[in-house]
Amino acid sequence: MLKRDNTAYSTLAYEFNLLFDEPLKNHTSFKVGGPADMLALPKDKQELKSLLKKASDLDIPVTLFGGGTNLLVTDKGIRGLVVITRQLKSEIRITQTDSDKKTICVAAGERLSKVCQFAINHCLSGLEFAAGIPGTIGGAIMMNAGTKSGDMSGIAESIDVLNKKTLIFETIEKKNLNFSYRQLNLTGIIVAARLTLKEENKKKIEETFRQNLIRKNATQPVSFASAGCFFKNPTLEKSAGELIEKAGLKGMRIKDAMVSQSHANFIVNINNARCEDILLLKRQIQKIILNKFHIKLKTEVRVEGE
Ligand SMILES: Cc1cc2nc3c(=O)[nH]c(=O)nc-3n(C[C@H](O)[C@H](O)[C@H](O)COP(=O)(O)OP(=O)(O)OC[C@H]3O[C@@H](n4cnc5c(N)ncnc54)[C@H](O)[C@@H]3O)c2cc1C
Repeated sequence: MLKRDNTAYSTLAYEFNLLFDEPLKNHTSFKVGGPADMLALPKDKQELKSLLKKASDLDIPVTLFGGGTNLLVTDKGIRGLVVITRQLKSEIRITQTDSDKKTICVAAGERLSKVCQFAINHCLSGLEFAAGIPGTIGGAIMMNAGTKSGDMSGIAESIDVLNKKTLIFETIEKKNLNFSYRQLNLTGIIVAARLTLKEENKKKIEETFRQNLIRKNATQPVSFASAGCFFKNPTLEKSAGELIEKAGLKGMRIKDAMVSQSHANFIVNINNARCEDILLLKRQIQKIILNKFHIKLKTEVRVEGE
């Protein structure tokens, strides 16, 4: 952990409104994770840029969080500076209309659920797959969040990114966005995104959202702390959840970390789980699935910290 009298630490603290030794369990949907040496919530992209410049000058490592809904933070926490982008917000705007298509511009810190509501209100179809997915737009694009019925790669037109090396803002167009399953290959920080949606009957859009939400709430343990699906599906046909369920692992538990009874690909924190319990459970699941089905499950949840 950085010492309070460390010059880099106090210089940064002096210029920005930072939180110190902030428990990261307060900033993740898993409700797990030790402290961040320093934590910042920049309010706009210029503040983000100044913060990154200062951290880089002082050689302080930076870790990025959006809504913290796909993250598992270690019990020792994260050294250096954690930057949370969820306050990077501005009004959602329709920037382009092209026959029956419309492009909306959204700041990275905006909640995906709010963008979904905007789409419904403006009779725009394309985000129905995102019903019930928590987190921010930046995190959703970085994770290529989605379901069987679609993902962010299908609607992302371009993104505005702060280049971490040059600290210059750049726009990356769709053709240069390297999306794959639950991942975008990108090193920069997303500050805004343009999404292209299609005009559609409002009732039809609302009904699809409603159906998707009902399905999600019926099949996922939404009332327990988690980070969503823990493992990536090994193939389109074989879901990780089916394999874990077939292996009889629903309800398997290490202290307060448990394989959900309702969806086998969710590890839930049933009270006060530690990261080490969750990682132990993860390794046991992987070992059993490898022995039984000869398939190596890879994690979808991103682990951060020392
Ligand atoms: C109950 C529940 C249900 C879920 N259901 C789904 C689902 O159906 N489908 C699905 O795909 N996911 C699902 N998830 C997982 C998660 O919600 C998504 O991956 C979400 O898009 C992550 O967004 P976030 O803002 O929380 O990102 P975070 O978890 O904060 O970050 C995820 C990654 O993105 C990076 N990142 C965040 N913001 C930025 C930015 N502005 N610029 C660059 N990098 C950034 C972070 O560094 C990190 O590597 C679910 C999670 C929960 C808890």
